[in-house]
Amino acid sequence: KVEKLKKLKDLPAITPDGKKVMLAANIGTPKDVKSALANGAEGVGLFRTEFLYMDRTTLPTEEEQFEAYKEVAEKMEGRPVTIRTLDIGGDKELPYLDMPKEMNPFLGYRAIRLCLDRTDIFKTQLRAILRASAYGNIHIMYPMISSVEDVRKANTVLNEVKAELDKEGIKYDKNIKVGIMVEIPSAAITADILAKEVDFFSIGTNDLRQYTLAVDRMNEHVKDYYQPFNPAILRLIKLVIDAAHKEGKFAAMCGEMAGDPLATVILLGLGLDEFSMSATSIPTVKNIIRNVEYERAKEIAERVLNIAEAEKIQKMMEDIIKDIE
Ligand code: PEP
Ligand code: MG
Repeated sequence: KVEKLKKLKDLPAITPDGKKVMLAANIGTPKDVKSALANGAEGVGLFRTEFLYMDRTTLPTEEEQFEAYKEVAEKMEGRPVTIRTLDIGGDKELPYLDMPKEMNPFLGYRAIRLCLDRTDIFKTQLRAILRASAYGNIHIMYPMISSVEDVRKANTVLNEVKAELDKEGIKYDKNIKVGIMVEIPSAAITADILAKEVDFFSIGTNDLRQYTLAVDRMNEHVKDYYQPFNPAILRLIKLVIDAAHKEGKFAAMCGEMAGDPLATVILLGLGLDEFSMSATSIPTVKNIIRNVEYERAKEIAERVLNIAEAEKIQKMMEDIIKDIE
């Protein structure tokens, strides 16, 4: 089976009736590019940049960041690389940042909120990303967006940085795409508004599930409540994909669900354009896509949206993919 999946590496993720989707990899450091390419990733759908900031005593410099982003862009040889701006806070603390002690860190000062407050940190990162964009096909993605104001504020900072680079005569991709993670329920619910202001969405199901179901994603005691196929999650996913398409934008997913073989047919049927996952999941997901008709996936997705119980949906999907070798 492993051998068979390996052969899929250079084949497209296309259904027998011709629906093509993009399969991309989530990476955490430039070293991960090797495995992404070895598993047939057509892009990097999520480059988590936290590694640059962790396990050290000072903030990373613009130059250090630029080198890391450039390395990934070059190694991906023109394939899209979506760089997510800093998503620190929540469970991830930086000792040198003097962050506030919070009762509910996951509902607090993290990710884009921290960046919009500490624009010095944010600008350094955006400069590094923009400079690297001259060496490949880079997209920018903001995490933890909760409203259209967040997007506009972040873009204001981005435009300031672009103007600085212009003044200094430094090259960057003037048409760089800017998208957001949809991982907070308010963003999913207002996806129609947000779709007008961004180039793409990427659904972060790990946090979307945590916030929608009010379940701490790390808490063992409530892990049974952390249901991937909860109807609320599926409805939100549909809402987000439809809103993106209505504005002619693309809808990606980079949460764990994108690499879950039980979810593949549903996500395909809902019209997801890009699935981004840990590289080793790509062959399995591709194999499913290459063996299910898009028309059938649409029917299955529609059926699933009318089922009330998460467990029933899960069982149904287990049966459906059993037939796919
Ligand atoms: C998510 O929330 O689904 C996601 C991809 O981001 P992270 O897991 O880094 O919070
Ligand atoms: Mg997240």
